[in-house]
Amino acid sequence: MVYISTRGGGQGVTSAAAIKTGIAPDGGLYVPAEQVTFAEEKIFSLAGLTYQERAVTILRPFLPEFTDEEVAGCVHNAYNESSFHHPSVTPLVHLDEKLSVLELWHGPTCAFKDIALQMLPHLLVKSMEKTGESARILILVATSGDTGKAALEGFRDVDRTAIMVFYPDEGVSQVQKLQMVTQEGNNVGVAAVKGNFDDTQSGIKKIFSNNAVSDEIAQYGYKFSSANSINWGRLVPQIVYYFSAYADLLRDGVIKAGDMVNFVVPTGNFGNILAGYYAKMMGLPVNKLICAANANNVLSDFIRTGIYDRNRRFVRTISPSMDILISSNLERLLFALTEHNHARVRAWMNQLQDKGRYTVDEQITARIQKHFWSDYASDRETIDTIKNTYRRYRYVVDTHTAVGLRVYEKFRLSGGDSCHTVVLSTASPFKFNASVAAALLGEEQTSSRSEFDLLHMLADISGLPIPHGLRDLAKRKVIHKSVIERDKMRQAVISFVSGLK
Ligand SMILES: *Cc1c(COP(=O)(O)O)cnc(C)c1O
Repeated sequence: MVYISTRGGGQGVTSAAAIKTGIAPDGGLYVPAEQVTFAEEKIFSLAGLTYQERAVTILRPFLPEFTDEEVAGCVHNAYNESSFHHPSVTPLVHLDEKLSVLELWHGPTCAFKDIALQMLPHLLVKSMEKTGESARILILVATSGDTGKAALEGFRDVDRTAIMVFYPDEGVSQVQKLQMVTQEGNNVGVAAVKGNFDDTQSGIKKIFSNNAVSDEIAQYGYKFSSANSINWGRLVPQIVYYFSAYADLLRDGVIKAGDMVNFVVPTGNFGNILAGYYAKMMGLPVNKLICAANANNVLSDFIRTGIYDRNRRFVRTISPSMDILISSNLERLLFALTEHNHARVRAWMNQLQDKGRYTVDEQITARIQKHFWSDYASDRETIDTIKNTYRRYRYVVDTHTAVGLRVYEKFRLSGGDSCHTVVLSTASPFKFNASVAAALLGEEQTSSRSEFDLLHMLADISGLPIPHGLRDLAKRKVIHKSVIERDKMRQAVISFVSGLK
């Protein structure tokens, strides 16, 4: 099995090379050249396995150069008692006969990105060995909040790697900032940049494209890489939990073997839901993949009309991890739906780059609608859904999950099918505590409280413990204090690398 670029350039590469390089040299994304499929019996037999065993089974065919022991090693390094605070890793909670919630946030940073970012460093280190890479890897991340902390936790103290995260000085929440500046580990660096997220992001792009910087870090034995969500090594671990949810539904007797289910996915960059599409193509009995968006509803419009148009106002919402207008992983779906027609994919991506817009024809739109359904929820609807879900089920959800639940309601109201449906819960309610507490207790009660008071208030009403990663955050030692000018990021990287052991 080889991996090829969605833009058609170059030869096929091994899974190890695809993971090591992240993005293809022609600017495309790597995808498996052949379809992996699982027989029904194999899918149904997952019900008797643990999450880790399920993960080994699903990942195995995608990593042909890895030995069985290496695949198992990566899985156990990623998903164990010290990284995931739940024995099932991604537990499934049944709200009623037709609706379950898949909790993807029991990892160290309380959001679903942990599932991929706990695994990626191990896949990356093995991939370096396999490709004969002698350098160490330096990961640079620009973050608006969630990804930075998840990447720090994933790479901390992983051999032969180092990670430096930049965040905008004004533009992350109090909790997010403290999560990063208190980060422990011998190979981690964190700095605040005076500016906004775009300044930070473009600063990193400049460093990546500057050969002089690469030469300088090479003197210390390092080479740049990225933990970005377009890396295949971040996508593939996400396929596992779709199979795992189905296996749990079987195990719990909620469905019978072969019954179709729907998945609702709160979507931003289209990485999570794309993993669901791959699961469906592999043979998992999925009817609809329901793409839930917030007010930045570029994907809902696309799925409904075939027109992708990012020329619209960017809206700041209370589900900020979905505030995205360019969903990079959509390119992989288009490549699959055109039966690997890279010329068409390239043309659309060029139009997106030049005009911010492209239109796919009726045939492709029909193919999209065969698998996907989409709608969006406003902030008002999101708040109402947090309240109603608590009233109805005594179950507390975060804002992103609430978007998913609201869009599921819209699906049912619009005459959608009656298959059992799983809503993917992408963050712990504690992670977005200000919005969740305000929805449940009212603004009057919460507006003057610190985020730390709110954690305790939320623990009281939900009856849940404050998650490990957020507990005692205010008391932890601040380790990373530097705040730098925008044009000093390069120097910060060099001085970080020179100080590594
Ligand atoms: C990143 C993120 C999303 C969006 O996932 P994509 O794979 O980018 O579509 C949704 N919810 C939360 C909490 C996230 O952190």
